[in-house]
Amino acid sequence: MANVCKICTATTLGKVSRTVEEHARHLESEHHIPVRRENETEAQCVERFLLEQPEAGGPMCQCPTCTLLSHSTVCMPQAIRGLG
Ligand SMILES: [Zn+2]
Ligand SMILES: [Zn+2]
Repeated sequence: MANVCKICTATTLGKVSRTVEEHARHLESEHHIPVRRENETEAQCVERFLLEQPEAGGPMCQCPTCTLLSHSTVCMPQAIRGLG
């Protein structure tokens, strides 16, 4: 119950309860939000995220900024890629 996704709460997907790890992976793959894991520095997190989610920050970015504002502004993944 603790790890229900707040972004896709309106969908059945968001009502699924996940472990912390599953929730982190969900945020990264579905919403393009980097989540820092234990034993990871901020820089390592960013590096891993950009490798694992090549579409984050691009025209297919699924982050909350892009889905809400239709890619009309520089989003967080775009900024950490250095494109912003
Ligand atoms: Zn979600
Ligand atoms: Zn985005």
